[in-house]
Amino acid sequence: MVDWDRERSRLVTHLRERVADESVLDAMERVPRHLFVPERKRRNAYADRPLPIGEGQTISAPHMVAIMADLLDLSSGDAVLEVGTGCGYHAAVTAELVGAENVYSVEYHESLAATARETLAATGHGDVSVRAGDGKQGWPEHAPYDRVYLTCAAPDFPPSLVEQTRTDGYLLAPIGDGTQTLVRARKRADGTLDREDHGSVRFVPLQ
Ligand code: SAH
Repeated sequence: MVDWDRERSRLVTHLRERVADESVLDAMERVPRHLFVPERKRRNAYADRPLPIGEGQTISAPHMVAIMADLLDLSSGDAVLEVGTGCGYHAAVTAELVGAENVYSVEYHESLAATARETLAATGHGDVSVRAGDGKQGWPEHAPYDRVYLTCAAPDFPPSLVEQTRTDGYLLAPIGDGTQTLVRARKRADGTLDREDHGSVRFVPLQ
């Protein structure tokens, strides 16, 4: 029998070298990543690397989820839009930080959205809202969002997502076609973006 809690604690100890925010590390400690990955990949669930989740997609490496949560500076009550639900793991970590009822996530593949919903319900994050569709259009019904992030790479921040972010809110995404840069942008009152680069990354492309 694998001691998943111990494996997860070991992972969080390793993440401490890259992320200092205790609330993010606590969130990572609370979400059972092994329940989000397909059964055949489960034994690697607490290795710090991406894993395949079906439909040619991957769950991001844990350090990337932690770094993104840290950059988004999430607080309880923040309304958050995620583009790219995948298996739902990243959404669960976000839910730990802001409250599940404040997380809205859009997934392109219907099958992944359905599985993510089931897993999120099983891990106690069932109040996260998951919709199948094109995330480039956002989810206008629940806008404005305090934070918007993409877990797939886009050529630039899609205009609808900028529109649905509140003034002074943050957007975070891997930006670029070949080489990608993790970019955090703050939305100014005039609608323009104040951008900051946070290094090279590798994500699956936006559909
Ligand atoms: N956060 C996810 C990572 C998934 S990988 C997790 O924790 O598992 C990126 C996801 O973005 C994939 O599931 C892919 O299907 C989805 N995606 C790609 N293009 C999209 C689009 N236009 N709208 C919504 N989701 C999209």
